Amino acid sequence: MAEIHFHNGEQLPLELHKVRIVQKLDLQPVERRAEAISEAGFNTFLLFNKDIFLDMLTDSGVNAMSDRQLASMMIADDSYAGSATFTRLTEKLKEIFGTEYFLPSHQGRAAENIIAMTFVRPGSIIPMNYHFTTTKAHITRLGGIVEELLVDEGVKIESNYPFKGNFDLDKLERLLAEKHDIIPFIRIEAGTNLIGGQPLSLENIEKSADIAHRYGVLTVLDASLLQDNLYFIKTREEYAKDLSLREITRRISEKMDIIYFSGRKLGFARGGGISIHSKELYLRMRELVPMFEGFLTYGGMSVREMEAMTVGLDETMDMDVISQGPLFIKYMTDELIRNNVPVVTPPGGLGCHLDASRFIPHVRQEEYPAGALAAAVYIAGGIRGMERGTISEQREPDGSEHLAAVELLRLAMPRRVFTLSQVKYAIDRITWLYENRNLIGGLRFVEEPSSLRFFFGRLEPVSPWPEKLIAAFRRDFGDSL
Ligand SMILES: *Cc1c(COP(=O)(O)O)cnc(C)c1O
Repeated sequence: MAEIHFHNGEQLPLELHKVRIVQKLDLQPVERRAEAISEAGFNTFLLFNKDIFLDMLTDSGVNAMSDRQLASMMIADDSYAGSATFTRLTEKLKEIFGTEYFLPSHQGRAAENIIAMTFVRPGSIIPMNYHFTTTKAHITRLGGIVEELLVDEGVKIESNYPFKGNFDLDKLERLLAEKHDIIPFIRIEAGTNLIGGQPLSLENIEKSADIAHRYGVLTVLDASLLQDNLYFIKTREEYAKDLSLREITRRISEKMDIIYFSGRKLGFARGGGISIHSKELYLRMRELVPMFEGFLTYGGMSVREMEAMTVGLDETMDMDVISQGPLFIKYMTDELIRNNVPVVTPPGGLGCHLDASRFIPHVRQEEYPAGALAAAVYIAGGIRGMERGTISEQREPDGSEHLAAVELLRLAMPRRVFTLSQVKYAIDRITWLYENRNLIGGLRFVEEPSSLRFFFGRLEPVSPWPEKLIAAFRRDFGDSL
């Protein structure tokens, strides 16, 4: 992907690939969309694909593969042990990260399980720039404590700070000085997921690793969103401007003791694993792989996915490939800002994030603004996003609501999946919705599971606001879908 100047003055992200396999999409009329979200209990997780036009729920396992990836699947070597496919994957990781050893796992969270079981003890502290849901669950399940040491700028919704995923190095230094004997490792999350795919700088990664090593503490990189982080280092960081993507990757990996990733994101396939420099650390984790994942040469992955991941990792070292997501997200974010729609800035990787607290300030947090906005965006455009607000939190032990720090609607951008006209459509419908934001009302639970309520919970509107939205849509768009 390149940003191209058009003669008419526009600057647009231009696809440097052509589409050779397509999947038909349906765009249902607005009346059917309102019916579908009602059937789904106003929870976008419970919608069916036949009712969805643009699925922006997640970037996990839904990225488009290249012709080279699909072709590689035909030479997969399906043997239980000694598979040539595994050798190719290990060699590719060695080429990119310089790591000698690789432990495969069925996806990213399985790698987290293995690392946590090996290193976390009751009372262990794990410092990190920011947590990810599954990471935190594995650490706390074993009695560990997560300490988030993100720079203050990281949680500001509107900012022009280029590296909102950075560690606060002073806080890291202080914590390590005081508690290093109960800190088995620090965890560095590239392309920090839950704060909007925001990157760390190369300089910050190197400095945090140096601090950890000075106190004899291991460094662990969560590289699931490394491809986006690499793009931002290359384009935003003066310190790295003369380095190639491969050199930046090596500079990062030289400072890491352990690198793990979700192959559903990094490598554009499905699977995951752990790359390790030292034999000693490899041996400490190794026995857990056959116990929980599968034999050491596949770890629960299909060999076809492993071949595709090998090629996908190679393509991650190509700026034309990894720029696609960030440039589409930047385009979408910038256009929404031009239309005064409140969004998280600067644009990160992963997706575009709408700020529901400012989009619909009249909806109280107890009536789930991010969830209501997710339902409204679906009704307005058949676009499915993910609620990142109070519905995603769990109630307090006394049953009271735990209000989220931010109410966001995440609109993920699966890599190489959408065209620019589809993105423009999303911008148009969201802008229309913003102009009609007063029509949107809140939600309340009708079925609330005690855990993971955001996956399975069912809600209803507190007033008949969806009908009003349909009427406004018909008034403004006539018979159009
Ligand atoms: C997705 C993700 C994971 C978990 O990976 P899965 O393959 O979904 O299990 C871990 N860390 C980060 C940063 C992620 O984005």
